[in-house]
Amino acid sequence: MARPSSDMAEFRKVFSNAKHVVILTGAGVSAESGVPTFRGAGGFWRKWQAQDLATPEAFARNPSRVWEFYHYRREVMLTKSPNPAHLAIAACEARLSRQGRAVTVITQNIDELHRRAGSKSVLEIHGSLFNTRCTNCGNVAANHKSPICPALEGKGAPDPNTNDARIPQEDLPRCEQAGCNGLLRPSVVWFGETLDADILTKVEGELETCDLCLVVGTSSIVYPAAMFAPQVAARGVPVAEFNMEDTPATMRFQFHFQGPCGSTLPPALERHETEVI
Ligand SMILES: [Zn+2]
Repeated sequence: MARPSSDMAEFRKVFSNAKHVVILTGAGVSAESGVPTFRGAGGFWRKWQAQDLATPEAFARNPSRVWEFYHYRREVMLTKSPNPAHLAIAACEARLSRQGRAVTVITQNIDELHRRAGSKSVLEIHGSLFNTRCTNCGNVAANHKSPICPALEGKGAPDPNTNDARIPQEDLPRCEQAGCNGLLRPSVVWFGETLDADILTKVEGELETCDLCLVVGTSSIVYPAAMFAPQVAARGVPVAEFNMEDTPATMRFQFHFQGPCGSTLPPALERHETEVI
């Protein structure tokens, strides 16, 4: 099998003819904005990593600790901003939509940086740090409050010597639907949970109709997202990967551009000479 091409001029020709672009994004895009993942070497909150706390079991055992973790992650996002990759994607969507062309972002990231950059068509397959879901009535609501509830104010410090705040359940975030008052949880997909069926249906629709697919800053090893781009490539649709290194799927793709996506993506998505609007 031949190596994928890293010929930008060639990619730009394909891009200029695309009517429906799907952009799959992962942790690498957020990492360039300094968003911590709490995974891998050095990725700890207190003594734990994401896979220890981002589970239904951890929440059932200790909702106060899990809410401290998510409160910290929400507050950290107040200090982070979209980077040139997020901005290039949002600008591309705005420009192409004026030309009757579509750009949809399908992201594993839960930090809402694509929306903050201005992207409108975004499918957040792992949910959002800024959505809550009621464990009683199931209601999902956007919530950007800081702090999310008074009891979490000043809590959530990541230092390994910090003691648990041990907040009583009734003082954790509660549902505001009339007569409910159920315990809220972050509306994110935790380890061991399945993806939202409605979002998956929309994702499938995008993958089946796109005529160009970009895979940006994702290692392509998290299922089922790992199957999305190879599925598009199998239809004969061009797929371009933008990543710091090769991934297990690289050899299935037509293009591969190595490096920080904040550097590689803006020139790839800027206005093409054939664009008239
Ligand atoms: Zn409720």
